[in-house]
Amino acid sequence: MSIEIERNETEDVKVNLTLVSQQIDQLVQQYKRKEGCVRLLAVSKTKPLSALEAAYSAGQRAFGENYVQEAVDKCHALAHLADIEWHFIGPIQSNKSRLIADTMHWVHSIDREKIARRLSDQRSVDMPPLNVCIQVNISGEDSKSGVTLSELGAMVDLIRTLPNLCLRGLMAIPAPQENSAAQCAVYEPLVKAFLELSKSDIMIDTLSIGMSGDLPAAIQSGSTMVRVGTAIFGSRDYSAKM
Ligand SMILES: *Cc1c(COP(=O)(O)O)cnc(C)c1O
Repeated sequence: MSIEIERNETEDVKVNLTLVSQQIDQLVQQYKRKEGCVRLLAVSKTKPLSALEAAYSAGQRAFGENYVQEAVDKCHALAHLADIEWHFIGPIQSNKSRLIADTMHWVHSIDREKIARRLSDQRSVDMPPLNVCIQVNISGEDSKSGVTLSELGAMVDLIRTLPNLCLRGLMAIPAPQENSAAQCAVYEPLVKAFLELSKSDIMIDTLSIGMSGDLPAAIQSGSTMVRVGTAIFGSRDYSAKM
């Protein structure tokens, strides 16, 4: 048995949220971005409901989850917190798309045509359109999901024809680099593609990049939504995953 150090989860989450928000504000100033232009998504995968409730009581509203069943269970369990915004950020198997279409407000991980079509078909017309980001593979590793930059245009065109999806922007999970400059260099082609799209008649406003380990590079590069787990909720113990 491992030795557990007694901790006050609610207090820890609250303090961490404040620290992360302060770091974001400071980076926004440092890189001369517009005040308030970077939203914080609290990535709560593998974390218990109590951790999400702690973040909620500290004012956090947007939560990111990676595993479909876990996301749906949490969404139902916290249904009384009506203004929570659920973001799905993990890989999507097509047989799970309906669960996502039924519960989530956002999906950041659209990486193929079939998934986009299914989500739009399965989204109830009684719900607002599902906000989506296209996941772009910018590290060029076969193991990472996402469309390539050369496939991006076709995916954008497709999503714009799908009635129950609202295209909000692009998302990426780059391979970690040794320093901030190298991380920015990896982001550069994505940022260029995002700016190109923003200049066209397509209304997109979201560049979903930045995690606990690369906030400075992401915010310097133009992130509008950072997805932060560890820095808010502590490290994840996968053996305890629900
Ligand atoms: C887990 C995860 C995060 C958060 O990562 P941290 O390093 O814990 O901040 C962000 N985005 C995605 C897609 C993730 O799977």
